[in-house]
Amino acid sequence: MALVVQKFGGTSVADAAKITAAARKAIARHEAGDRVVVVVSAMGHQTDILVDLAKQITERPSAREMDMLLSTGEQVSVALFAMAIHSLGYKAVSLTGAQIGIRTDSTHTRARIKSISTDHVTKLLDDGAIVIAAGFQGIDQHGNITTLGRGGSDTTAVALAAVLGADVCEIYTDVDGVFTTDPRILPEAARLPSISHDEMLELASLGAGVMHPRSIEFAKKFGVPVLVRSSFRDGPGTLILDADRAAQRPASGVALAKDEARITIEDARDEPGVNHLLFSRLAAAGIAVDMIVQNMGQGGRTDVSFTVPGDDLVEALEITRSAADAMGARGVSHDDAVAKVSVVGVGMDRAEGVAGTMFSALSREGINVHMITTSEIKISALVDRREGPAAVKAVHKAFHLEAAGAGGDAAAVKPTKSSPLEVVRRLEGMEDLAVEDCILDDTQALVTFTHLPDRPGVAADIFEELGRAGLNVDMIVQSHPRDGIAELSFTVPAENRDRAIEAAGRIAETRQARVADVPHVAKLSITGVGIRSHAGVADRLFKPLADAGVNIDLVSTSEVRLNVVVNAEQGEKSLAVLRTAFGL
Ligand code: ADP
Ligand code: ASP
Ligand code: MG
Repeated sequence: MALVVQKFGGTSVADAAKITAAARKAIARHEAGDRVVVVVSAMGHQTDILVDLAKQITERPSAREMDMLLSTGEQVSVALFAMAIHSLGYKAVSLTGAQIGIRTDSTHTRARIKSISTDHVTKLLDDGAIVIAAGFQGIDQHGNITTLGRGGSDTTAVALAAVLGADVCEIYTDVDGVFTTDPRILPEAARLPSISHDEMLELASLGAGVMHPRSIEFAKKFGVPVLVRSSFRDGPGTLILDADRAAQRPASGVALAKDEARITIEDARDEPGVNHLLFSRLAAAGIAVDMIVQNMGQGGRTDVSFTVPGDDLVEALEITRSAADAMGARGVSHDDAVAKVSVVGVGMDRAEGVAGTMFSALSREGINVHMITTSEIKISALVDRREGPAAVKAVHKAFHLEAAGAGGDAAAVKPTKSSPLEVVRRLEGMEDLAVEDCILDDTQALVTFTHLPDRPGVAADIFEELGRAGLNVDMIVQSHPRDGIAELSFTVPAENRDRAIEAAGRIAETRQARVADVPHVAKLSITGVGIRSHAGVADRLFKPLADAGVNIDLVSTSEVRLNVVVNAEQGEKSLAVLRTAFGL
């Protein structure tokens, strides 16, 4: 007898007929002898309708009252779902998040789960009932209703599956599974039979709306197999599983975060500690920052750029302007019409020329790239918002992702539970940041182009040339251009430094740019789960490094890793500082 958690999204329970159809799916599993817990979202666009209602009353509703309001959507759907099961002649009991005992912190509208009690649910299952749990909600220590953030029912489902030790968490939605990109934007997108946790985490947090990113954090930490499939059509779906069993593709998918905003602090004092001033304040406001890029700096001054979700722009700008004064900066600029295009693949670091393929594709479409950041498994490029869809299309095509679905089906890979990560035992709250390790790599060199013209095709030229020279780059960072001039840095294995400088020289000559290099740098990586989604992780690293007098050359983040590049002589010292800072 298996324990199954089934989650039905808004479109899957949009009306009475759909609720009954979903109820039949739960009953079929129950009839097959399994214990079934169903997690349900609000019907159709109910949550949007409630948000809109609140806006009609006030522009700035209290977050606590928003949670009180939004949680009603799921309360309606669980009750109707239980009634549908009753009317088909079976036992079912609906429960709110509070009734289950889903304890969260008090961060209204984006609360994190601390613990989940299994007593109530287990007792009902023992009694032979199908349990219908309200998604997206919980209760804090003071008895206030909280919600987990938009799309959070996925997270309720996987978290419940984790504490109940479920054999599988099935996510029923309005598409056939996880695709290489949003199939509603690009019809040629292909369904992936399976995908690794790390890739799904990255894709989800970089804009692929099919899964709530935090649900994948639970899946990875607690070893829950997740199967995404259609509510309306039978099919194998997509199995989300640990990296060891997933295919090692250089590119698995392309994500578009279409509502991004870029903020730049111009001419800040270039000394250890200035970044901390800014990022600690942003973190305190719970704003998740991405694409942090600092220029090389001249005359003791430097620009610092970063991106935030468009919804956070107003607050982030307020905070940045006040920090800019303290940083002695000359000004703050921003762009609220940008989008972030990312290609994600766990096999990227072993493949040749991935960056070249991506930037050549953008260049052929005449798309200008404003900023670049990478991690081991992704490359992100910031482009004009109106060019976002064309950029996705071009990159998708360049990696031949329309053919990515071929090669096995989810049915062939069995959803099997794996044991929770070691780090989980040390966590106080289920959803706390999980830092696993800090490692030092001192085998790389850093090459930087300065005075690069801000024109389409420049990044393509660089990575095509490096590709021709047989060089594989690791980290890539391109700054936000100022006065028509950008900087681009990359790291290569130190033994390839001479060849890299030579190739860089050829490009610099044709583009009237300059090249600088550091023969040996130290790259420090913090690895874990939830590194980017927990605001302030980057800042926890800036402060102790600054206190130790270490200057950071490059930063890059992903959901499972945060990398910083520092001077080689300071590598060992930085490692010790970071291990202490993260309690390792
Ligand atoms: P639900 O209400 O079931 O939670 P969502 O709307 O949250 O459904 O998620 C499903 C939607 O995610 C799809 O309709 C699709 O447009 C979108 N989507 C974005 N990226 C992807 C992707 N890579 N694969 C599949 N769907 C995606
Ligand atoms: N109903 C909530 C929302 O629309 C949660 C969810 O659907 O996952 O965001
Ligand atoms: Mg969803």
